[in-house]
Amino acid sequence: MGATPAITALDLEAERAFLGPALDEAVAGVLASGRFVLGPVLEAFERDFAAMHHVAHCVGVASGTDALILGLRALGVGPGDRVLTTPFSFFASAGAIAWIGATPVLADIDPETGLLDPERAAAVMGSGIACILPVHLYGQLADVRAFRALADASGAKLLEDAAQAHGATRAGVHAGELGDAAAFSFYPTKNLGCAGEGGAVLIQDASIAEGLRRLRDHGSTAKYEHAELGVNSRLHALQAAILAVKLPHLAAWNERRRGIAARYDAAFAGSAAVRPLRSVPGSVHHQYAVRVPAADRDAVHEGLVEAGVHAAVHYPRPIHLQAAAAGWGYGPGSLPEAEALAREVLCLPIHPFLVDADADRVAETLLGLVG
Ligand SMILES: *Cc1c(COP(=O)(O)O)cnc(C)c1O
Repeated sequence: MGATPAITALDLEAERAFLGPALDEAVAGVLASGRFVLGPVLEAFERDFAAMHHVAHCVGVASGTDALILGLRALGVGPGDRVLTTPFSFFASAGAIAWIGATPVLADIDPETGLLDPERAAAVMGSGIACILPVHLYGQLADVRAFRALADASGAKLLEDAAQAHGATRAGVHAGELGDAAAFSFYPTKNLGCAGEGGAVLIQDASIAEGLRRLRDHGSTAKYEHAELGVNSRLHALQAAILAVKLPHLAAWNERRRGIAARYDAAFAGSAAVRPLRSVPGSVHHQYAVRVPAADRDAVHEGLVEAGVHAAVHYPRPIHLQAAAAGWGYGPGSLPEAEALAREVLCLPIHPFLVDADADRVAETLLGLVG
């Protein structure tokens, strides 16, 4: 028992073995070139990442959080503006809104998928929303067509948080394709991860993309010419080189995640205690999330970890109940679907190098624990 290796949420060692010397060669190439900031390696990655999502422009930035912050700024969102988002995501989705001095407005999730619910969102649009910021939670696209229509009806912008959704589609639409901008993260645990921090913004409109290029580079239009205020937030050439090695494998890696998700779906089909969230077709399954009864969730989670199955809770506390959100006008009971999901959710290991036998062991162990 003690000799059985743990089933982890991520297997960077297996990924490195699969990629062979390509990563080292890509890094060595950048080191030899001496072009570390901006330059051709970054530009080539930006072109390929945009093309893969059927979007015209990509601007590499320093993190997914910066992609959200600068994406909002590039769309003209600023202090005092109201931005609609979900209470159930990584905190940065809403934190970015507050960070630029705008006001986060939260609408509850669809309990079946965990995604921001367009109907609940529509109910708060009348309050003067400048931008809608849906999150493509767990790798599945929010209903971008519905949010595009909602935004257009009131002249609001649409910024997609696609940090968990590289390569995802929904009814033929790619992540980033319908938004005015879409923020991606290349944090190491994401479906496409770099060796540290990185992010990108996809943008269809050329002048908004140009604005974002200035914002990430001190607001400069030419060397030592600063047209506006900006920051230093550029995706490093070393990271772009690493991402360029991985990008050609992303479609197959996402497909493998789909295969594991289907295997889990089949394993839990007969269970009343383990209820997978309904996943939207075209999902890239960044996470595989199930609900278990709230009263048992923490014990089941502990039991899994003790059995060597590294399950995780994404996320144990909804955004509006974080201390940092205390002034936003919400409290316990404000967003009951998000609060219920936070009590019940459990995410099972899913990554491209997880073998079927290990996925089966995860499912059996979980079913054994819920009785
Ligand atoms: C990871 C993540 C972010 C933040 O990305 P970083 O690169 O870590 O800054 C934002 N939103 C969501 C939904 C994420 O999962």
